[in-house]
Amino acid sequence: MAASAVTAFGQDLIANQAPIDRKLKAVDSVSLQRYILTRYDNNAVDQLYSSWNTNKAHCYAASEVPDSFRIDLRGFAMPTPSRLVTSRFGYRPAFRRQHKGLDIKVYTGDTIVSAFDGKVRCANYDAGGYGYYIVVRHDNGLETIYGHLSKHLVTANQEVKAGEPIGLGGNTGRSFGSHLHFETRLLGVAINPELLFDFPNQDVTADYFVFHNPEKDSKGSAANDGRHQLASNNTKGSHFYQVKRGDTLTKVAKKLGVKMEVLCRSNNLTRNSRLRDKQILRY
Ligand SMILES: [Zn+2]
Repeated sequence: MAASAVTAFGQDLIANQAPIDRKLKAVDSVSLQRYILTRYDNNAVDQLYSSWNTNKAHCYAASEVPDSFRIDLRGFAMPTPSRLVTSRFGYRPAFRRQHKGLDIKVYTGDTIVSAFDGKVRCANYDAGGYGYYIVVRHDNGLETIYGHLSKHLVTANQEVKAGEPIGLGGNTGRSFGSHLHFETRLLGVAINPELLFDFPNQDVTADYFVFHNPEKDSKGSAANDGRHQLASNNTKGSHFYQVKRGDTLTKVAKKLGVKMEVLCRSNNLTRNSRLRDKQILRY
């Protein structure tokens, strides 16, 4: 009697254990996959970059750039809580030169944080350009540059986490009025930061961004600077449209076949908002 009770109890235990084991296994494989993915991504960074230069922001040869590369944007932090973009990426006719970054309004002394985990490659001063600037090489392969700072809070070779303060906003170097000049690059090739970061909504545009080498891939430069719609960058269901001269919200909504309200909502706009030339809209 006693023996069979123990057996029954034992069987109950085993029966109860089974689903837990299954659950544990599922958890294990998820964390294992995450671990493998992290390892893979870290290896990818090592494969992407063969040099480590703490003196110069721009130090890569075009020949090193891969044909394409998937950048993992998960685990990001917005460099600043400011939502105000004051100057976009691209050609500036007034200066007859390319603007390789995105300008975001910040005030002198505002905290600027690292966009992802990584290691500070440069914390330097460039009187005629970036002013006090920082370059961080991230585990996801991206390098980010933060310019016109008033102060460095980190030094070269220092490991940083996403969201960790790295500097204070300012107006140093070639700058007129305090702002953050923010660049996103892969092996030196500039990518329009608005294709990765949505400052008005304080979010990334998707979990991943697929970089294409402008030299080797026909989709190349257009994909990285947002000159056309980005079909490859839709892992969260987002597509992008760059505003052309003469576009209005009504016209764009009609052209893209989306509802006006949806377009407004996903871009933090109202029906009366005026579109800026080359503005990038998410839909
Ligand atoms: Zn700028």
